[in-house]
Amino acid sequence: MRVLFLASEVAPYSKSGGLADVGGALPAALRRLGTDVLTVTPRYGEVPTEGLRPLLEPQTLTLGTRRVTWSARLDPDTSTAFVEAPELYERDSIYTQDPDEHLRFAAFAVAALEIARRQGWRPDVVHCNDWQTGTVPALLDGPYAEDPVLGGVPAVLTIHNLGYQGWFGAEAAGELGLDGHEHLLLRRREGAFSFLVNGLARADLITTVSPTYAREVQTPDDGFGLDGLLRARSDRLVGILNGIDDAVWNPRTDPLIPWRYSVKSLWRKERDKEALLGHVGLPYRPDVPVAGMISRLVYQKGIELMPGPLLHFLDTWDLRVVVLGSGEGKYEEFFRWLQRRHPDKMAFVPGYDVPLSHLIEAGADIYLMPSRYEPCGLNQMYSLAYGTMPVVRRTGGLADTVTQFDAATGTGTGILFDHFTEDGLGWALGQALTLHLDRKSWRIAQANGMEVDNSWRRRAGDYLDVYRSLAGE
Ligand code: ADP
Repeated sequence: MRVLFLASEVAPYSKSGGLADVGGALPAALRRLGTDVLTVTPRYGEVPTEGLRPLLEPQTLTLGTRRVTWSARLDPDTSTAFVEAPELYERDSIYTQDPDEHLRFAAFAVAALEIARRQGWRPDVVHCNDWQTGTVPALLDGPYAEDPVLGGVPAVLTIHNLGYQGWFGAEAAGELGLDGHEHLLLRRREGAFSFLVNGLARADLITTVSPTYAREVQTPDDGFGLDGLLRARSDRLVGILNGIDDAVWNPRTDPLIPWRYSVKSLWRKERDKEALLGHVGLPYRPDVPVAGMISRLVYQKGIELMPGPLLHFLDTWDLRVVVLGSGEGKYEEFFRWLQRRHPDKMAFVPGYDVPLSHLIEAGADIYLMPSRYEPCGLNQMYSLAYGTMPVVRRTGGLADTVTQFDAATGTGTGILFDHFTEDGLGWALGQALTLHLDRKSWRIAQANGMEVDNSWRRRAGDYLDVYRSLAGE
């Protein structure tokens, strides 16, 4: 089985969110199962060229009136090819508001297919991810339909987050490298055009990153206006949970935490807690619980629910809260305000900090994830692995990966709440804090979480089944 895997972010090379983790770990897990995977991603300015070897000489491609010169390099250790076009990809961030944003990813899609074609490397399936790769199904059905290498190859499109659809002015549709096949872009809304919508309309199979999210995206509440399209394609839509890369997120081996531990040495986790609080400048006291959060601070993540419950518990409990994240100003301002009000209990670290994210997972007792919607979510799975109790809203992948802890039976791994309200989160956080006083039950919940196998080893097999079924059609 050969898979051409396209993603706009691939860890460890580039990352803004969960897509990067999947882009790094899923191909690696598939390779371990004997699949030949070529990953293709843009080479952003932050990706060094050391260790990359030249793969393709400079080429040009034409998108509307724009001619782009690009070349390709390969990291042979990970079978990752990079599309290199400094004028497109060397910007301040992975995604931009620049007027040529659509061209950046239209060019990526064409170049990625060209990398396979020029080497005569015929995949059994092209695996696309999110809106940035949404033009690929139309490219395969149009300009590449008769191509000896790529003709007839099916495309899978995975939705990692339906909230990001890649809408651009309708005139953008003429600049996507479709060379006279623009009629394949079926879906347009007055004056606008979406990469994702068109990808979803044409992909041979659509996957999303959890079974619950696969159902939710077909409802008006969570369909972001695409529920009708997704219902119409429901026979071609499956949910496959993301996994976690346990070479990276594993408290027994994690080089980014000072004290490594397993379920048998949880006392060492207490030392990580001390280190975490020292790092963020909060006083450590044994038995005082720490709640952590690492997040893009955006609409999706349910920050709106936090003021009431956090204020209440910070005012009335001995508790520490550590939040790492960046995003919308109003959320950052809220956490700054909370930190000023409770400087001995609350620390807000703005920015993006991978080592600190590991230390929070290791050092916190409770992990907060009150998401409005959550396609899969990774941090709740990292938390389970690190013996950190997830307090989550029952939505999307959170509902599929966290089970309600019941002290009477000693079953379950975390606390879930249903209603997207401050009371819901307040109830759940209260449950977790009360449970934390009951050391015996707490240890059982920690052990239950640490025993769950969320590794990609398990999940990659589900993708292989999907590829096989498509290749066989
Ligand atoms: P999303 O993809 O919606 O951002 P996920 O939970 O699927 O949410 O994945 C988020 C990933 O990004 C996790 O690996 C998380 O640790 C990481 N992350 C998010 N914000 C930060 C940050 N400020 N610093 C370090 N890592 C972060």
